[in-house]
Amino acid sequence: MSNSRGGNSDNLKTLGARDRTGDSVEFQLTEEQIAIKEAVREFCEKEFTEDIIKRYCEAEEFPWDVYRKACKLGFVGIHYPEEYGGQGYGVLENALVTEEMCRADPELGITMVLADFGVELILHFGTEEQKERYVPRVARGESLSAAAFTEPSGGSDISKRLGTVARKEGDEWVINGSKMFITNANLSDYVITLCQTDLEVEPPYRGQTLFIVPTSSQGLDVVKLPGKLGIGPSQTCEVSYSNVKVPDDAVLGELNRGFYHTLRFLNESRVEIAAQGVGVAQGALDRALRYAKERELFGKPLFQLQAVAHKLAWMATKVEAARLLTYKAAWLIDQGQPDPMISSMAKWYAARVAVEVVDEAAQIFGGYFYFEDYDIQRFYRVAKIIEIYEGTKEVQKDTVARFLTRR
Ligand SMILES: Cc1cc2nc3c(=O)[nH]c(=O)nc-3n(C[C@H](O)[C@H](O)[C@H](O)COP(=O)(O)OP(=O)(O)OC[C@H]3O[C@@H](n4cnc5c(N)ncnc54)[C@H](O)[C@@H]3O)c2cc1C
Repeated sequence: MSNSRGGNSDNLKTLGARDRTGDSVEFQLTEEQIAIKEAVREFCEKEFTEDIIKRYCEAEEFPWDVYRKACKLGFVGIHYPEEYGGQGYGVLENALVTEEMCRADPELGITMVLADFGVELILHFGTEEQKERYVPRVARGESLSAAAFTEPSGGSDISKRLGTVARKEGDEWVINGSKMFITNANLSDYVITLCQTDLEVEPPYRGQTLFIVPTSSQGLDVVKLPGKLGIGPSQTCEVSYSNVKVPDDAVLGELNRGFYHTLRFLNESRVEIAAQGVGVAQGALDRALRYAKERELFGKPLFQLQAVAHKLAWMATKVEAARLLTYKAAWLIDQGQPDPMISSMAKWYAARVAVEVVDEAAQIFGGYFYFEDYDIQRFYRVAKIIEIYEGTKEVQKDTVARFLTRR
């Protein structure tokens, strides 16, 4: 896959057209964007087989072989600049890849798209040397990427004083503390870590700094957390730092500006999470619709019951609204007009739609939902996490409300 437009340009043209991928009315994507969606769909049909899904989900193992194929085809890093191994597309194209993968399978899809979590921080704020050193390896699938903001004492509000502290000693920084629920820290070369570097400043977020901490560092301990409800192949870890020493050039971005860098990153990454919600909801809708047409109840397909048909109409409407909001948030970023209010709206709304649509899809399956013969059960286990990570729905609504009052 290669980018014929050399960056972000006129992504969305008109409202109200139907694309040839068979999705219902949506913004009209460009031919190139439609081709990306189709290519990802084709890839998932071929690679996300029942055997593969069963194997990796049961073993809770990261699917390196499938992942590296996605890297080779340019789906991973589609939005990184070409000089760092990417395809030079934008946030919208990354959202399209995310949506299609999560639609095809919620667990493998989310696992694949979370695997480069945080690399955009390096792309936006890293030095040339940091970009060259870390990003191409992620694009090639040689390392995953991990970023650590959440602490055991709470993840919703990172503006408070952090427990993970970096102190300058001579030419080095010494890091102590711990981070919770860190995706793929056990499979990454590094963990981008948000630390408190100024213990006196008020408000405390003015004294936070990002560091790129190699996972091979002495004193860094990563423990994979057991017993997760879903997305087993995506690893979730606790990371502890005990006198971990890093050089000055491990600072990512500006000293004491880590909080602001993180907000800028989250504004973008929340759109990717919103796209997860759209994909999971669309995947559940696809399966429920198919089931409602096939399942006969007293001689009639389920779909002919008005209560069931209305459920499906409601689900389709919700998915469409979530998709439009998500594409708009992505498009704004690609146009150089990022809007944190729209990104937060997209994140909480698409996640809520995923939870509600999956719930109604389960209802349509009746008792069969409860058994693993139909994969709708796995959508049910996965949907809820989209409302929690990268900022809970309460945090997103706080952001929306804050911007409403400012405007
Ligand atoms: C599978 C998984 C992967 C993750 N990956 C990462 C990762 O890679 N990196 C990373 O840094 N983190 C990661 N997280 C952490 C995730 O972002 C946090 O779980 C999330 O931000 C919520 O933080 P918390 O769990 O500490 O909940 P808490 O902060 O304890 O919040 C608990 C509840 O209280 C509510 N609440 C808190 N404060 C307020 C308030 N002021 N007003 C109203 N309600 C409030 C919250 O909305 C939530 O409902 C991951 C989590 C999971 C489960």
